Amino acid sequence: MGALAAIEIDKWLSEGGLVVTASDRAARALVAAFHRARQAEGLTAWPTPNIFDWKSFARTAWNERSADGRLLLNPAQEEALWVGIAGQDRSLATLLEGPRHRLASMAMEAHELLCSYAPQFLRNTARSAWHQDAAAFSGWLVAFDESCRSGNLLSPSRLPLELIPLLEADSAKRPPLLLAGFDRILPVQRSLFDSWGQWHEAAQGEPATKIHFHVAADAQAEFAACAIWCGRQLADSPKARLLVVAQSVSARRGEMERAFLRHTGPAFEFSLGIPLSQVTLARAAHLLLRWLGGSLLEQELDWLLSTGLIAATPQESAALTAYMRTLRRFSLERTQWTLTAFLGQRCASELLPAPWVERITAVQRLLAGFTRRPQSPLDWAELVPRLLDELPFACASPLSSAEYQALHRWQLAVESCGSLGFDGRRISWKEFLSQLGRTLDETLFAPESHNAPIQIAGPAESAGLTADAVWFLGADEDSWPPRGTMHPLLPIEIQREAGMPHATPQLDWELAESITNRILASAAEVHFSFAKQNETADARPSLLVTKLAGDAEDVTPDLMAPAAQPPLTVPFQDSSRIPFPPGKVSGGSSVLTAQSQCPFKAFATARLAAQDWKPAEAGLTASQRGSLLHAVLHAIWAGPPDGIRTHADLVNLNDRKAFVAAHVQRTLARELRPHLREVMPRRYLELEEMRLTELVTQWLEYEAARIEFEVAETEAKRTIHLAGLTLDLRLDRVDRLKDGSQLVIDYKSGNVSPSSWDLPRPDDVQLPLYAGFALDPDEVLGGLVFAKIRAGDQGFSGRVGDAAATLFSGLKGYNPLVRYPFTVEQLLDWRDCIERLAKDFLSGKAEVNPRDPIEETCKRCGLQTLCRIHENEAQLEADDDSGSEEIADE
Ligand code: SF4
Repeated sequence: MGALAAIEIDKWLSEGGLVVTASDRAARALVAAFHRARQAEGLTAWPTPNIFDWKSFARTAWNERSADGRLLLNPAQEEALWVGIAGQDRSLATLLEGPRHRLASMAMEAHELLCSYAPQFLRNTARSAWHQDAAAFSGWLVAFDESCRSGNLLSPSRLPLELIPLLEADSAKRPPLLLAGFDRILPVQRSLFDSWGQWHEAAQGEPATKIHFHVAADAQAEFAACAIWCGRQLADSPKARLLVVAQSVSARRGEMERAFLRHTGPAFEFSLGIPLSQVTLARAAHLLLRWLGGSLLEQELDWLLSTGLIAATPQESAALTAYMRTLRRFSLERTQWTLTAFLGQRCASELLPAPWVERITAVQRLLAGFTRRPQSPLDWAELVPRLLDELPFACASPLSSAEYQALHRWQLAVESCGSLGFDGRRISWKEFLSQLGRTLDETLFAPESHNAPIQIAGPAESAGLTADAVWFLGADEDSWPPRGTMHPLLPIEIQREAGMPHATPQLDWELAESITNRILASAAEVHFSFAKQNETADARPSLLVTKLAGDAEDVTPDLMAPAAQPPLTVPFQDSSRIPFPPGKVSGGSSVLTAQSQCPFKAFATARLAAQDWKPAEAGLTASQRGSLLHAVLHAIWAGPPDGIRTHADLVNLNDRKAFVAAHVQRTLARELRPHLREVMPRRYLELEEMRLTELVTQWLEYEAARIEFEVAETEAKRTIHLAGLTLDLRLDRVDRLKDGSQLVIDYKSGNVSPSSWDLPRPDDVQLPLYAGFALDPDEVLGGLVFAKIRAGDQGFSGRVGDAAATLFSGLKGYNPLVRYPFTVEQLLDWRDCIERLAKDFLSGKAEVNPRDPIEETCKRCGLQTLCRIHENEAQLEADDDSGSEEIADE
């Protein structure tokens, strides 16, 4: 709204007129502007202005005149009627709950379109020629009308149509109407205003005098230019009110938020909220209710516990998250958790706070008393606050104002689900929770406006918002005018004739033109912008905006963000180190591997016991499968009575597969923990047994082709002392080769390569450590190899002194085992490197300095939230580009 419109609205209200806006958002904006104007006049009290949004206006007028006692349906009630009707269709598309609800909401939309644009088709006879999907919808509409008639119900979409004759029959004098913020007046609205009496639209303000059209390199540059401009406007004029109009606000909210936070601080707010299901309080309450009667995914439960909302005190909350960690440490993870399974873990349940267990068990019992039979939605809605209060929910810490508002909105959502009992239906707890989930998804929540100077809104929502200057983002050819599709349940020709949304490109153009003109008339200065490069292709400027604002020009340098983000923290040269007291450290070789990959990783894992959190899997995890493979091979090579020890033993086996199968069977019986058997289907474990048998048999076939050898040790335990550090190691296997030397073997089921041992900064030091420090000094080292035991990719990979003479005869010179032989010099270099790593660890060297910045090393690490590497990504990349060794040397 420009200044002229504001003056007209003030005058209109003071003369007793009524203002009707297109949306409640516009009504709120006009009311706020009205109050600001009165305050500016120095008044301390004034009457509430007669400003209504369109829906409230129509509802109030209908309530004042209607006497037939019909119940006006709310959206949840109307959708429930459509769902019931769609469900009776018994077609494939409506069998499942999700598609049934989607179809029902499409039918609801189609009904609303007919009411607003083409009410003549609400008569059944007018739709007799409709075909296919439109005919199916027509049948549903007949059933819907019948339900409303028999239940004495009224759809809000029908309300304006019902009101028109009431107004025509009412001869009382009515105040004149001034319409504000309507980009398009729908046919039904026009008829209603005509029957009301005198009305007209608020005049648009003077067209903007400063109009600019910018083109930015990409979306980030576009958001940055807009945010920098906003920041500058506010610096020049702190009382200025700015409006940013953006397409797809919900999809790009995060990117915009970052750009504005960086350049304007918290001086902005989005006028459009986010789904209530994404608001912590509402999501947690819904998850808790689901958990009481069913199961949650492990990550859902983990998140729920981490909110602290289901504990009575912060201590209780800490105990619950600690319990979850303990379950992990005991490898008791599950993909899904019922409350009963969570409480019943014998090895750890004593860690749960007893009062919490008592309360949540009581709450579960309370719910169980109701779930035996279907209840009225109203009964379920009344039960929800009781369940939450008993726990209690959201009581551990004081709530902020936004949280109180979210809690209030949650209660309204629960009540709205309770209102589904309007037709006497009874539903199960599960159905009630599904409906509640959908309601939370569909309800947008925004905390009360704090009147931030920068308002960010979508093009349609911006109607009625006031501003001194406007920036319109996303003015490219594909986005503006926006493209949409016609409604699939209504005949195309009827949509075209009635001018329904997206029925023709011309209609889209006219609506976008009307919005653009309204924006141009809403402030003295208006900027448009678009990003030249979008996700898929080069974008071109919107023809509509070019027509009104001229050609786009490149964003000027003063609106460009500096290349690297200024650090959010103050740099501090931390050269202090906390030495590790000489002695034992747990983790074996992984400590020194981590020290080489990234000193902070070694510090965090070995000294802080930090761990990444891998999601539970439906089957065995890679590490569980790896352990089983190790156990089977250990049993096979353990020697008599059940195992074998030499190459000759292997070659002399009559039936290798049967031999392996027996070992696999025994190993699974011994090693598979009871809780895994409990949660995994028997057939799956049988298949796993077959897979393992096949894999190991193939491996033994491979080993049978070797030059004779003897297995000296398997799972060999060693304790070594290295520069003051004591490490416990376990070597998978050590073979004695034909020449009497020893071969160190490590079984791997993943993709590994000896290049990971390359100096100066190895990615893995496990085998070099074993070879260099864990063998008897009197023994001769013949080589170190990975035994890669993977389906379709088996073999030794590593460094061997003379592979052709000790491993496989007939190996060619190009074979990597021959081409890159093991040498004593290599071993000495590895020893030096490993000793240096041990000393670094002991000295407390713990810099965040990944071996391959950001890429491989960090991807496999999982400690990003602790080391906050992503905050330094730009810096690391810049250092990497310039070849700087600064970070590495710190
Ligand atoms: S995520 Fe990267 S930087 Fe962080 S600790 Fe792990 S390896 Fe180091």
